Amino acid sequence: QKSSPAQTEFYQAAEEVLESIRPLLDKDKHYREHGIVERLVEPERQIMFRVVWQDDQGRVQVNKGYRIQFNSALGPYKGGLRFHPSVNAGIIKFLGFEQIFKNSLTGLAIGGGKGGSDFNPKGRSDAEIMRFCQAFMSELYRHIGDTIDVPAGDIGVGAREIGYLYGQYKRLTGSYEGVLTGKGLKWGGSLARKEATGYGAVYFAQNMLEERGDSLNGKVCLVSGAGNVAIYTIEKLYELGALPVTCSDSQGTLYHAKGIDLALLKELKEVRRSSLEVYLEAHPDAVYTPVSAYPADGHAVWRYSAQAAFPSATQNELTDADAKVLLENGVYCISEGANMPSTAQAVDRFIDARICYGPGKAANAGGVATSQLEMAQNASMTQWTFEEVDHRLKDIMAGIFQRSISTAREFDQPDNLVLGANIAGFRKVADAMIEQGLV
Ligand code: NDP
Repeated sequence: QKSSPAQTEFYQAAEEVLESIRPLLDKDKHYREHGIVERLVEPERQIMFRVVWQDDQGRVQVNKGYRIQFNSALGPYKGGLRFHPSVNAGIIKFLGFEQIFKNSLTGLAIGGGKGGSDFNPKGRSDAEIMRFCQAFMSELYRHIGDTIDVPAGDIGVGAREIGYLYGQYKRLTGSYEGVLTGKGLKWGGSLARKEATGYGAVYFAQNMLEERGDSLNGKVCLVSGAGNVAIYTIEKLYELGALPVTCSDSQGTLYHAKGIDLALLKELKEVRRSSLEVYLEAHPDAVYTPVSAYPADGHAVWRYSAQAAFPSATQNELTDADAKVLLENGVYCISEGANMPSTAQAVDRFIDARICYGPGKAANAGGVATSQLEMAQNASMTQWTFEEVDHRLKDIMAGIFQRSISTAREFDQPDNLVLGANIAGFRKVADAMIEQGLV
């Protein structure tokens, strides 16, 4: 029920974290004494608001707006805005909760937050998108600031939306400050921010494979999604000599054995905003499977043979049945570009199989890390080159991998990066909360 969300995704995310930090809580009793878990699962602040705007026909439209300011122990709240009809308070809460640990894991000074709206941008004109963004920011602006809370993009919020949101913030406050990340390159954006989440997920996979004396070179890869994360995952996979053969959107899945035509994919999704089915006009040898023909227990994109997989669309898009088929079909490296794309059962299966499995909160942290680099550039009024930002991103991903694997080893589960990432992320936030007292 949209009006009374059950918070299913939040419980799923919280259970995963609480389950995997148990060995730490048993070892270091003071976390329990300070009530850290009870404090962490409760957001510092949740803002819900009405967004009223007018469509092109002059009709009044009303949407729900959200911003959750979950934890500020490590720095200003940081996390994206999602515009998608499935958004509700539970989804925003799960994303905000994950963001706390992810941001901690980057090693940077950023707290956890998230926001969005149930607004559906599909089929809306540019003018409607602008009016919606202006109406959304007319309430959000009073809760954010460059040292308070710095939102970014997520599903349905890209460069265009960030532009309209930023313009309205500036109009309302008269202030030109780094209050959003993912900004245009001409007005405070960072080079390589657009590419960062996808590139980062690929760097993370590379780190996992290199640890086992392997590499991405020559690997056939499955990628889901066809948005910001998926596109730049595909781009970096090609650069590293891998062969991405799939992508997907909310209407269907595309399989192209020769490798996805990246230039065409960018044209279809970044410029024309059209369905993937149109890809067949240029490539009749590709295979398109509409959602109506998906297997009943999962997703067509995971049913092809490959060695690596990059879930990059949305939460719970990879089921237990998908996980079973993936493993049977030879996949032994999974790096999650999306947030919580694998169901809890699928995650258990990957951990039991001891494959290279990089959970989203570690593998997709390159996006938020580069957002922090954008904040640093804004604060010092400089702009770094693409190579400089990409170089830092690569180092940050290597750092996240090292923190995750060394923590997993410390707790005698060397292949379990879920445990490693959760404990490493938790420990830093928890220590900061203890040092800052009961606030
Ligand atoms: P985009 O809006 O750019 O793309 C999302 C893609 O996933 C689209 O192809 C969309 O299909 C598809 N999709 C979205 N929802 C569904 C759904 N319910 N069922 C099937 N397909 C769906 O978003 P991003 O690429 O930015 O985000 C993808 C994932 O990565 C999300 O989980 C996000 O939270 C996560 N993420 C993003 C970061 C970023 O920097 N952008 C940072 C860290 C994580 P269609 O085109 O048909 O809408």
